Amino acid sequence: MGRLAPSPTGALHLGNARTFLLAWLSVRSRGGTLLLRIEDIDGPRVKPETIAGTLADLRWLGLDWDGEPVLQSDRLGHYEAAAARLVAAGHAYACVCSRSEVEAAASAPHAGDEGPAYPGTCRGRFTDRAAARAATGRDAALRFRVDVAAVPFDDGFVGPQRGAVHGDFVVQKRDGGPAYQLAVVVDDAAQGVTEVVRADDLLPSTPRQLLLYRALGLAAPQFVHVPLVVGGDGRRLAKRHGDTSLRHLRARGVTAAAVVGYLAFLCGLGPRGGSALPGDLLGRFAWQRLSRQPVRGDDHGLFA
Ligand code: GLU
Repeated sequence: MGRLAPSPTGALHLGNARTFLLAWLSVRSRGGTLLLRIEDIDGPRVKPETIAGTLADLRWLGLDWDGEPVLQSDRLGHYEAAAARLVAAGHAYACVCSRSEVEAAASAPHAGDEGPAYPGTCRGRFTDRAAARAATGRDAALRFRVDVAAVPFDDGFVGPQRGAVHGDFVVQKRDGGPAYQLAVVVDDAAQGVTEVVRADDLLPSTPRQLLLYRALGLAAPQFVHVPLVVGGDGRRLAKRHGDTSLRHLRARGVTAAAVVGYLAFLCGLGPRGGSALPGDLLGRFAWQRLSRQPVRGDDHGLFA
């Protein structure tokens, strides 16, 4: 059982379309079930039109799913309950530190864009968020207590991973909403998802999610992280590389078959300039055909 889990933050572009095509092919080539979950709780309030646009983009590409889409905004009580269980079992604690306090308290300079590891200032300080608020007058987040340096796991595409965990991480935000890490684990487990195909920018999140599965006594899925689509400068495909949104391509008269053909080419499943429907690729799909390097996807010549 697999899933598509778009965040409806804007129009789908070639990068996410490729990831969704791969998730679809992996499941459908084995006759499996594919669910659709709209991850609409992260970031600014999502408008209903944005969600409808995401569904329309997926349908236009020819990707289908089983059952009704699930909206994370309908499931807030489940995340709240899981967070409460983590606190009750001593896996999570209330934390009132602001981002700048965490930065200031960090002793070592940090690499990458993860920010510094949390120094543990609030560990053991409060019994829960309400107590933290009463004591400090500040809204508290909940942090998961990480007592290991790494959670090794075997990724279905990139292979064995050391799975470094970068300190105690937030599972419930200061406003009471769930952090992505918690919501995705609660949902994948509740929906019976056994395979998660997603872009490899989420690889650093996986060890955290594995810790949450363990702490909540849930079975973890197989993770399959696929390389990102990048522009000619080697950076993640984004607006600066031009408009690769499906909406824009469609408005310019590019057909879904040309887009899927191009995505197939980027996946090593078809020739440059070919056209295809997702179903045409089922017989050819194999993870071994996929490049392990980031894939360049800003060749607009194909669509001109
Ligand atoms: N909603 C996330 C995204 O669109 C994907 C989360 C996941 O696959 O775990 O990037």
